[in-house]
Amino acid sequence: MTCYQEVSCPKCNSIKITKSGTNGYGKQRYYCRNSECKTKTFMLDYSYKACVYGMTEKIVEMAINGSGIRDTARVLKINKNTVINTLKKRKVALFR
Ligand SMILES: [Zn+2]
Repeated sequence: MTCYQEVSCPKCNSIKITKSGTNGYGKQRYYCRNSECKTKTFMLDYSYKACVYGMTEKIVEMAINGSGIRDTARVLKINKNTVINTLKKRKVALFR
């Protein structure tokens, strides 16, 4: 799978992100510029998929093709909540 270094906010999935320095351990800190989002700064979690942009497309594609939330999460090896949030975000109404 091709992974882009696309960073998005873990809370709102916004890609309007600004780098805001590093913490004491040299980890990159990010700032979410979405004014409606309560997350202001966050750090990339290693368990968090870095290729969110491509992932979003895959989630939407699978949903359109009739995959359930659980199947999508299992196939893409991501959290069920990520699938739900992504579909909500994209206004894909496929909750079953
Ligand atoms: Zn955010």
